[in-house]
Amino acid sequence: MKTMFITGASRGIGRAVAFAAAGRFNIVAVYNKSAEEAESLVAEIKKKGAAAIAVKADVANYAEVLDAYERAVKAFGGVDVVVTAAGIAEQKLFTDITEADWRRMFDVNVTGTRNALAAALPAMISKKRGKLITIASVWGETGASCEVHYSASKAAVIGLTKALAKEVGLSGIEVNCVSPGAVKTDMLAGFSAADLAALAADTPLNRLGTPEDVAAAVMFFAENAAFITGAVLAVNGGFHI
Ligand code: NAP
Repeated sequence: MKTMFITGASRGIGRAVAFAAAGRFNIVAVYNKSAEEAESLVAEIKKKGAAAIAVKADVANYAEVLDAYERAVKAFGGVDVVVTAAGIAEQKLFTDITEADWRRMFDVNVTGTRNALAAALPAMISKKRGKLITIASVWGETGASCEVHYSASKAAVIGLTKALAKEVGLSGIEVNCVSPGAVKTDMLAGFSAADLAALAADTPLNRLGTPEDVAAAVMFFAENAAFITGAVLAVNGGFHI
C-alpha cells in the first residue's frame, strides 16, 4: 500500500485528509502540539484495520521534519504522497504585525511547506514518482485585510507549488495545491458568529466549507489526478476571486 505523509494531521483539514486516506494509504500523521489528538486519530484509524503512525515535528524545524520523514520510511518503506496541511493564521492590522509575527508566519506556512517537500523529494526523484499536495488559501489569491502576513505566506505557497511543478515534472512528480475558502476548523475560532455568518453569506454556495470538502479535493490529487501539475484547485464555495 502507498504511504501518505500529512503535516497538520492532528486537527482540522489535515485530520480530515488522514481519515479520508486511511485504508487507501498508510498514514503518517505529523503533529506538533496536539499529541493527544494525533494519538486518538491513529487509534481510530487502527480500529478500522488501517495502518497509521503519529510523529511529532515542528514543520518550521527542518531537522525535526527530516526525523519524522525517516520514521515514516522506517515504518512503511517510503512516502508516495505528501500533504502539507500544517499552518497558522493570525488577524492583526499590518502596522501591528511585529517582525517576530511575520517571521513565525513564514517559518510555519512557507518554510514548513518547503521542509516537508524537501524531505520527501530526493527519494521521489530517484523513483521518478510522487505526488506533492500543498494547502494555500483563498486569501493567498485575493488578499485579506488584517491578514497581510497570512495572505502573503499563502501566495508564497502558490508560487512555490507552481515553480516546483515545473522543476520536477521531468522526474514524474506532480505538485498541486488545494486553496480553501473559509472552512470550519479551530483556525476560525477567533471569529464571532456574526463574522462567520457574513463569510457564509459572501460565499455563493451560502455556507462555510468543511474539512471533508477540502479532503475530497486532496484525495483527487492523491488518487485520481493524472497529467495535472502546478494546478491550484479552489475549494471555496465560489467565493469571489
Ligand atoms: P487548524 O484546525 O488550526 O489546524 C492546524 C494544524 O496545523 C494542526 O494540526 C497543527 O498541529 C498544525 N500546525 C500548526 N503549526 C505547526 C507547526 N509549527 N508544526 C507542525 N504542525 C503545525 O487549521 P486548519 O483550518 O485545519 O488549517 C489547515 C491548513 O489549511 C492551514 O495551512 C490553513 O492555513 C489552511 N486553510 C484553512 C482555512 C480555514 O478556513 N480553516 C482556509 C484556507 C486555508 P498541532 O495542533 O499538533 O500543533
